[in-house]
Amino acid sequence: PLWEKKVVKSARPKSRGGLTVLVTGAAGFVGTHVSVSLKRRGDGVLGLDNFNHYYDINLKRARQKVLERSGVFIVEGDINDMTLLKKLFDVVFFTHVMHLAAQAGVRYAMQNPKSYVHSNIGGFVNLLEVCKSANPQPVVVWASSSSVYGLNSKVPFSEKDRTDQPASLYAATKKAGEEIAHTYNHIYGLSITGLRFFTVYGPWGRPDMAYFFFTKDILKGKEIGVFETADGRSVARDFTYIDDIVNGCLAALDTAKKSTGSGGKKRGPAQFRVFNLGNTSPVPVSRLVGILESLLQVKAKKKVLPLPRNGDVEFTHANISLAQKDLGYKPTTDLETGLKKFVRWYLSYYSGSKKKTSSW
Ligand code: NAD
Repeated sequence: PLWEKKVVKSARPKSRGGLTVLVTGAAGFVGTHVSVSLKRRGDGVLGLDNFNHYYDINLKRARQKVLERSGVFIVEGDINDMTLLKKLFDVVFFTHVMHLAAQAGVRYAMQNPKSYVHSNIGGFVNLLEVCKSANPQPVVVWASSSSVYGLNSKVPFSEKDRTDQPASLYAATKKAGEEIAHTYNHIYGLSITGLRFFTVYGPWGRPDMAYFFFTKDILKGKEIGVFETADGRSVARDFTYIDDIVNGCLAALDTAKKSTGSGGKKRGPAQFRVFNLGNTSPVPVSRLVGILESLLQVKAKKKVLPLPRNGDVEFTHANISLAQKDLGYKPTTDLETGLKKFVRWYLSYYSGSKKKTSSW
């Protein structure tokens, strides 16, 4: 059937030795960038995404067009659908799974808590069940989050720091994901690498994130809320540019050791890794606004608000020495440079010249 042909073609690497990667959440912000980069260097990529309506579905459809032009086919479906996953694994021999599908965002968890459990726990377990039973098992690399550090006051965060005080349900499901991943590694010999991303931004980004909706609201002359801590300091984030994150993801896939189990049977000790992927230079959100004002040539109408207790932490700051050592990870884009690229994309995407912008 045509569907199967598209799946096989998309997943076929250009040459022997190339990876065959299932990318979940491929229509998402990070998923789109990772999929295009893998395909460009010759790997086979099959996307999977349920195109949920958490944010602007048109943006996801536009990313899908970009992917199709790059030769990446996206299967429309949910990671909770065991029958679909098994079918994909029957049709394609995946050497790697890049798992990026999730219910993201910390504040939405107040409105729809179950969607986090559904995708980030239920869906992840479902995916790992299929990976564990595949023969041979694929290497799994997945997106955890800097939010696992929660109310930890010690910065910079390093992988050995405590992660027992999640500040949101989102964080709790990512932390649970890390425990679940460890269990599948231990019981079934799955090779699993978790990547704790720190506030990722860039072209084709997520409309629910501050840099994105600040840009929109500043241009519209709308008031924007900038959070402050109780002692009057601006909240700060370790903003990390998308290309740096993509390099970290590819390095994690490339350096992962093969799984030692097969078909659900444990063979030997398999690799379990967790890395911070951040930028190591936290920037106050007030400074983020200042950069946007100068790029957009518009003065923002700022309103300083106290930090709400519904998920946001005060500061994030990554210690990346482990990723530097084991992955050769080295972020190279500072916030000014990255935001310049984001704003350029934003202006051309929303000016209606879709043809021009979607050529990547
Ligand atoms: P995104 O929301 O743009 O992408 C996630 C994609 O997964 C979406 O396209 C969505 O439709 C899809 N999806 C959600 N639930 C699904 C399900 N049950 N089945 C199939 N598809 C499903 O988010 P993103 O920013 O690209 O994030 C990618 C990953 O990185 C997520 O796991 C997220 O939690 C994690 N992360 C992101 C950031 C960041 O700053 N962007 C920071 C830390 C961690």
